[in-house]
Amino acid sequence: MVTSLMILTLNAGSSSLKFSVFDLSAGEDEVANGLVERIGSAEGRATLEIGDETQRVDFQGDHSDAVELIGKFLRKHELLNKVNAVGHRVVHGGEAFQQPTVISAEVEKTINRLSPLAPLHNPVNLQGIQLAKQTLPDVPHVAVFDTAFHSTMAAQAFRYPVPQAWYSEHGVRKYGFHGTSHAYVSTVASEVLAKAPRGARGSTGSGAKRNHQRIITLHLGNGCSAAAILNGACIDTTMGLTPLEGLMMGTRSGDVDPGLASYMHSLGMSVADYDRALNKASGLLGIAGENDMRALLEMRAKGSEAAQLAIAMFVYRLRKTIGAFAAAMDGVDAIVFTAGIGENAAELRAEVCEGLGFLGIKVSMEKNAVRSSEARIIGSGSCQVLVVPTNEELEIARATIGVIE
Ligand code: AMP
Repeated sequence: MVTSLMILTLNAGSSSLKFSVFDLSAGEDEVANGLVERIGSAEGRATLEIGDETQRVDFQGDHSDAVELIGKFLRKHELLNKVNAVGHRVVHGGEAFQQPTVISAEVEKTINRLSPLAPLHNPVNLQGIQLAKQTLPDVPHVAVFDTAFHSTMAAQAFRYPVPQAWYSEHGVRKYGFHGTSHAYVSTVASEVLAKAPRGARGSTGSGAKRNHQRIITLHLGNGCSAAAILNGACIDTTMGLTPLEGLMMGTRSGDVDPGLASYMHSLGMSVADYDRALNKASGLLGIAGENDMRALLEMRAKGSEAAQLAIAMFVYRLRKTIGAFAAAMDGVDAIVFTAGIGENAAELRAEVCEGLGFLGIKVSMEKNAVRSSEARIIGSGSCQVLVVPTNEELEIARATIGVIE
């Protein structure tokens, strides 16, 4: 039985390491956090925060040095010895992991075995786990998988119409990503809607509608994905075997004709170049030469036709996805905007919702224009529209507690 509940969360990327410490004993206080960026480069830097104190330091070193730096910082502030458990973000759990899981040697092996499905993420996630275990050998380490929230999808949603053996022998199926974000914002949205005065909840119809059981979450950041969530369980999502499928993103294409690969190959393009082009040089960047939505909105305002087209494509594809997910759930009770673009780009939210009145989706221009870091309702139709700031670290901490308690 755990009495104090101090959780360290770690999110290891290829050139970054993010951490937070949450005290979950009497609430959900984030007591410290930080980010080591550009690991391995000469311009590495670390930002470490606790209370009102923020430390910014130059950083030269590898992931092992980054873990050491964070360990030192936490030790100095007498937090390291108070950590009860460590929650690690792990991108790909395949079909092996459908829940947050305490990390044993066997679990590490499986995360490693799944690396071909997420070559940029799983190896570095695993490295983060191994380094953190050396620093904190006596507490449980828990893996929280990006894919796990989507494990409730039925075969009709997760299978691709390709030869059966690709699935049975090679694991080719839709897995979905951004799971901790979709889980977090859909939970918060349900709480906000449950507390809202009846008139503000939007729903007018059946009991199911009143309870807002059909939610579409839109995680719109540099990476973008949507999820269709029915009674709290994901029934479909836009990302697939890899995080390249689905919506148009900052530098990723999202959906294209699968025949494009062989066409470009027939023109002499290698598999590696094709993969790089679709992941790093496509999406908003491919169309307008810029992947930052804030910059694109400014470019559009100044008359850039390329920016206008890129945003129009982004919005159009998003609207089609909302329509498809509404069809998949026999209607929709709430849509939720989150992540950098979803939380901040009011203009874009309004454009996405315009013309979706047939689904009961309407945005109050006044509420949409309010800037806030709080979860809020911005809709005025029978289907609610919300903005919910995501908090993947807190979701990882909650999931970690759920496993060790
Ligand atoms: P994320 O990956 O969640 O950090 O989101 C990054 C994306 O959010 C980038 O495209 C940013 O341009 C976009 N973003 C952040 N703030 C704003 C803003 N105020 N208006 C429009 N887009 C924004």
